[in-house]
Amino acid sequence: MNSQIKVEVNCPSCQKSLMIQGVKIDDLPAIEISAKISGKSGKVYLSQIYGSYQKKFVNVEDIPDTVVDCFCPKCQQPFPIKKVCSSCNAPVATLNLDIGGKINFCTRNGCPHHSVEFENLDSAFILFQKQNPSYYA
Ligand SMILES: [Zn+2]
Ligand SMILES: [Zn+2]
Repeated sequence: MNSQIKVEVNCPSCQKSLMIQGVKIDDLPAIEISAKISGKSGKVYLSQIYGSYQKKFVNVEDIPDTVVDCFCPKCQQPFPIKKVCSSCNAPVATLNLDIGGKINFCTRNGCPHHSVEFENLDSAFILFQKQNPSYYA
């Protein structure tokens, strides 16, 4: 558990945290995203463990290979799309990392493509250090 990287994210538009205490995925507070899937609106909850594909769908169907429209549950702004997925060509949405930097994820349901960009190496170091204190002790 200690070697897993946890990402806490906030909305690039309103800067509010997207972490929700009331919903647990992988035993940790989940990332809450408003989603539209084939005309229906609901919520998708993602694991905050980087690389975990655990998800929960509420009021929307988990339809494989559908592109999901992702919005902020706080300000309702669509998450910024800065590129397309290198493996499936779907839009890649960007969220802000709490610690500085960005996390990108493919909006096609089931596509495993995602990446993290740190603003500088210090943030990456702090993230690892914070979560693996024994490693640097
Ligand atoms: Zn927002
Ligand atoms: Zn993709």
